[in-house]
Amino acid sequence: MTSVQFDERLRAAGLRVTAPRLTALAVIGEQQHIDVETLASAVRERLGTVSKQAVYDVVHVLTDAGLVRRVSPDGRGARYELERWDNHHHLLCSQCGELIDVPCAVDHVPCLMPPDSTGLTIDTAEVIYHGLCPDCTLAARDRNEISDSESTKELR
Ligand SMILES: [Zn+2]
Ligand SMILES: [Zn+2]
Repeated sequence: MTSVQFDERLRAAGLRVTAPRLTALAVIGEQQHIDVETLASAVRERLGTVSKQAVYDVVHVLTDAGLVRRVSPDGRGARYELERWDNHHHLLCSQCGELIDVPCAVDHVPCLMPPDSTGLTIDTAEVIYHGLCPDCTLAARDRNEISDSESTKELR
C-alpha cells in the first residue's frame, strides 16, 4: 500500500493528514503485529522530531478511527496491524512468541456463537489459537516432538 492511499484513508476517516500518522501507518503496514515500543522507535528514526508519547497518541487515534487493529494475544502487550476488516484471528506461537494470521473459521462475524445466546447481543468473537507457528512446527517435527497428524489447536 502506498502512502497516497494512507492519506486517503486518513481523510476518509475524518482525520488530518500528518507526517506522524502517515509514517505510523507505513511502518505498521511493513511490520505486521508490531508492538508500540518498536513502532515508536521506527517512527522516531524516520521523523526524528516526534516524541514517544506523540507516537502512542497517534496509535490510539488510528485504532479508534478503525485504520489500525489492536491485537492483545496474551492480555499483556498489545500489537498493531493495519485493519483489513477480514475478521482474521491469530495463532500465538508458544515457542517463539510470533503472531500468525489465521483466517476466520467461518468467514463471517461473529465466528463463534455460544449454545445459548438468549439476551446477548454478540458482535464479534476474539479467537486466539495457541500452538506453534510453521517454523516451530517444522523444528518440533525434526525433533520428533509432534507427529504430522497432531493438531495443537486450542480455543480460548
Ligand atoms: Zn514459533
Ligand atoms: Zn493479524
